Amino acid sequence: MAKPGEAILSQLLSLLFPLRCAHCGVCGDELCLSCRARLKPIGPTSCRRCGKPSLYDVPECRECRGRRLHFGSAQAAFRYAGPARSAIHRLKYSGRRHLAGVMAEATHSHPRLAGLTEKTGEVTLTYVPVHASRKFSRGYNQAELYARALSKTLGLPLAGLLVKNFPTTPQNRLNFNDRGKNLSDSFSVRRGYGVETPKVLLVDDVYTTGATVSECSRVLTADLGVVVDVWTFARTVKN
Ligand SMILES: [Zn+2]
Ligand SMILES: [Zn+2]
Repeated sequence: MAKPGEAILSQLLSLLFPLRCAHCGVCGDELCLSCRARLKPIGPTSCRRCGKPSLYDVPECRECRGRRLHFGSAQAAFRYAGPARSAIHRLKYSGRRHLAGVMAEATHSHPRLAGLTEKTGEVTLTYVPVHASRKFSRGYNQAELYARALSKTLGLPLAGLLVKNFPTTPQNRLNFNDRGKNLSDSFSVRRGYGVETPKVLLVDDVYTTGATVSECSRVLTADLGVVVDVWTFARTVKN
């Protein structure tokens, strides 16, 4: 419980700097109810491999055919647009770390995640790491905060299994193959770390080409012998 002085300070700060919705800017919430209602869910049918929305459930889509993906399946909750995009941007670049909790609240009841709570002892959550220099400058890793919030809500174990060995150049303009080369050998399993579950759910904020989560999955599978699936809050969808 906050001390009286702290409570007054916190009330004063909220008067001076009111909490504003990450998307529309209205006062009062990290992401207002109206913007939460406008998050666009992926699905219900998609590519079972990469999670790309599709008219029917398909084992493989045009986007992931011919790509070497090292995870079993990737799924996302929302399209990376509108409020989902704003929430991720604000979490990543504006220090709005509490948005990770909002993102977990908005996704924990998704059937893919809710189903995991019945499988205690089978799955460990982990997250895509950032290089220490990035964590130092930002103060946190947004994927770690989101995974941590999910782990609390779902009651599943969380382990920081991976490290980023060196900073890599931003990938925004690179295609899947060039991203793969850019990331080569940049991740490894943290020394001395392991898991007691046969499966790992790798958590990230957004799925773009899948190159990053694929490289992380390759390292986890090779070093720990686990089956890796991927979960992201959002996914880019090309029209
Ligand atoms: Zn809003
Ligand atoms: Zn696909």
